[in-house]
Amino acid sequence: MTAPLLDVADLRKTFVVRRGFPRAETVRVQALAGVSFTVGEGEAFGLVGESGCGKSTAGRALLRLIEPDGGRVLFRGEDFLGARSRRLRELRQKLQIVFQDPFASLNPRRSVGRTLAEPMHVHRLGSKAEIARRVADVLDEVGLPRDAADKYPHEFSGGQRQRIGIARALVLEPDLIVADEPVSALDVSIQAQILLLLDRLKERRGLGFLFISHDLGVVRHFCRRVAVMYLGRIVEDGPAERIFDAPLHPYTRALRDASPVPDPRAKVTMARLEGEVASAINPPSGCHFHPRCPHAMDRCRVEYPEVTEVEPGRRVACHLYPAAA
Ligand code: SF4
Repeated sequence: MTAPLLDVADLRKTFVVRRGFPRAETVRVQALAGVSFTVGEGEAFGLVGESGCGKSTAGRALLRLIEPDGGRVLFRGEDFLGARSRRLRELRQKLQIVFQDPFASLNPRRSVGRTLAEPMHVHRLGSKAEIARRVADVLDEVGLPRDAADKYPHEFSGGQRQRIGIARALVLEPDLIVADEPVSALDVSIQAQILLLLDRLKERRGLGFLFISHDLGVVRHFCRRVAVMYLGRIVEDGPAERIFDAPLHPYTRALRDASPVPDPRAKVTMARLEGEVASAINPPSGCHFHPRCPHAMDRCRVEYPEVTEVEPGRRVACHLYPAAA
């Protein structure tokens, strides 16, 4: 059996932060409490949850933009967390990221051409002419005119800036892109265009995607499989259609019902997700979702549920679905 493109197992990250005034105290925030998933070759895999659930930390930790405390990340079977110096640089070419806020992630004093050429210079890829040609090609590919290379980020709209962010990720010919809320800062009509572009790139280049979003509706159309995160853990995963049409975990259900519905004939109604995400500094005992869960039982307040495979490829962590004896 061939190895998946990306194999993430038991990824952990705790931040130590100081808070309070005038007497500051040091507290530990467990952002990732053992996150595991795989992304296949050319597959789009979604990581979904509210702000603060740890999904962006997972994306950054697996790319080593922040160093995880533990766990394993294999890229085509090779230990990415253990890679050093030259090999790490080579592997990094293959794993790229598109950020949520394209404006904040672009240097306002650098022309688009220089921004796109820089990663190739860093990785020492090609002559000046080859780099210029590659820059022109990726601008074509993301639907921007070639003279965009001579302009600066402030001269573009939000959607165009996100196209530049995507072009920057493509210029190194990656195999996997971590797309961290790539459309959430954009108007709805522009969101659809960017999603279409990402979909085309997925098909044409056979790119794998880890698509991170708070919106289950967006992920449903782009991803084949989805994992739902709550307070640093995956609470449900499985095929995107099944997760959206027949969610099992009460949190997934609430998240689905809170997601905007583009089709007015759809049965799903938009609802507010009740309550706030609990603090990762002092998470609730037992199942972390119990203070917000309409089905919470006594057991839920003391015991974190085991992960149960309810059908092939579909797992849930909830006491409503006990593991088979
Ligand atoms: Fe709700 Fe209990 Fe399931 Fe947690 S384990 S989601 S509290 S029913």
